[in-house]
Amino acid sequence: MTTASVDRLRDRIQGEVVMPNDQGYDDARRVYNAMIDRRPHVVIRCVGTEDVVTAVEYARANLLPVAVRGGAHSVPGFGTADDAVVVDLAGMRQMAVDPEARLARAKGGTTWGVFNEATSRHGLATTGGVISTTGVGGLTLGGGIGYLARGVGLSCDNLSSAEVVTADGRILQASESENEDLFWAIRGGGGNFGVVTEFEFRLHPVAEIYGGPIFYELEDAGTVLRFYRDFIKDAPESFGGFPAWQIAPPLPFIPEERHGEPFLAFVTCWAGPLDEGEKALEPFREVAPIVAEHVGPMPYTALNSAFDALVPAGLQHYWKANFVAELTDEAIEAHLTHGPQVPVVNSTVHIYPINGACHRVAADATAFAYRDANFATVIAGMWPDPAENEANTKWVRDYYEATAPLSEEGGYINFMAADDQDRIRANYKGNYDRLVEIKRRYDPENVFRVNQNIKP
Ligand SMILES: Cc1cc2nc3c(=O)[nH]c(=O)nc-3n(C[C@H](O)[C@H](O)[C@H](O)COP(=O)(O)OP(=O)(O)OC[C@H]3O[C@@H](n4cnc5c(N)ncnc54)[C@H](O)[C@@H]3O)c2cc1C
Repeated sequence: MTTASVDRLRDRIQGEVVMPNDQGYDDARRVYNAMIDRRPHVVIRCVGTEDVVTAVEYARANLLPVAVRGGAHSVPGFGTADDAVVVDLAGMRQMAVDPEARLARAKGGTTWGVFNEATSRHGLATTGGVISTTGVGGLTLGGGIGYLARGVGLSCDNLSSAEVVTADGRILQASESENEDLFWAIRGGGGNFGVVTEFEFRLHPVAEIYGGPIFYELEDAGTVLRFYRDFIKDAPESFGGFPAWQIAPPLPFIPEERHGEPFLAFVTCWAGPLDEGEKALEPFREVAPIVAEHVGPMPYTALNSAFDALVPAGLQHYWKANFVAELTDEAIEAHLTHGPQVPVVNSTVHIYPINGACHRVAADATAFAYRDANFATVIAGMWPDPAENEANTKWVRDYYEATAPLSEEGGYINFMAADDQDRIRANYKGNYDRLVEIKRRYDPENVFRVNQNIKP
């Protein structure tokens, strides 16, 4: 790189350019997963679309890959890479809500916490992640699973348009009526097609929800999982929630003598009429004795930040994932073998329901292909001590090896590890070839390859 081209970059960027010799480089290259230790060529803290265009042009001129970072939550650390140009969108978290039209526009680096705060002021929401610090960008581009998915679909199903900076530096609008192929691809295809500088979402009336976590004894876990499998088939779509293996954190609603023990928790969320919430969750009270619970009416924003403290930035992460069509007895047995061995309070396994509204979108209507799967499982290994990497990674791998043969071949790209790149075709099933075709059209040189990569 010539000094002239770096100087020119600094002159043109309105945000900040951080290079290896600059103060703050170590801070700028850090992502959420502390296991990731990469040395990018430059981190460009963008403050607007023009900065993003400049950053992409600089990367292309210098034949460098682009790593896009929004919330920085990518478990494989796709928000950075050695010798890459990092397009850091953390300075782009502005929101605009049109309550009449029930639309929200979010800049490319917005987190779900910021998003939910803005929309909740109008009693509105859309499907987002269950932790408030996760980015709207990465989550939506991969699909987007959350409490509201059964009722209103995946996050990407609620995307109405997007502004995208493509590899050739163009600023394109993508929607059902403009650049439809691009719009199709970014709804599930991840960050392969460009940098999304603005997302526009459809919103739905959701203010208060009725829900929260319920803890069951391990000996009742099989009963609860079998109940969940049957209940969720035709449960009202206002019901969202998922079972989770969870070591009891030291919270006041859990008996003190049980802190530190593993449980099967069920995180419930009733987003229908509040006065029907108690009745809707009754089956969860009847299925097995409850050890502890924190269930009641609360703002949707409260549930979406309730577990943030369990997953602070700076943990070690290793995750695996599969879609599941049927949660068979055999699969439940595998969960019962590995789940109770969850090693630390931060780690968990969630079995998210993705039926209801997610099934009403055709498998080829968006890039997200698994519209016939009923569940998305994530085995999320998260632990503080790098000295424990081997043991924790082994727990994830053993769990995965036991459940993968009882699951679909593909999994949700946002829950996958860096060593899952050989599963890309399976993750997209019948949509893969079309994704390759669109990738060739918009990014033939694979400038955007720091992701679950669709090769042109
Ligand atoms: C604690 C935690 C909780 C999670 N909970 C959920 C959940 O409830 N539901 C769910 O579906 N997923 C969840 N995930 C997974 C999450 O969807 C992925 O980690 C996702 O990649 C995070 O997006 P991000 O913007 O924070 O990540 P980043 O690391 O910033 O980005 C990840 C990748 O996404 C792409 N990307 C991000 N923003 C843009 C953009 N504006 N334009 C183009 N490409 C972009 C890039 O390829 C980038 O490399 C969770 C992850 C974590 C760590």
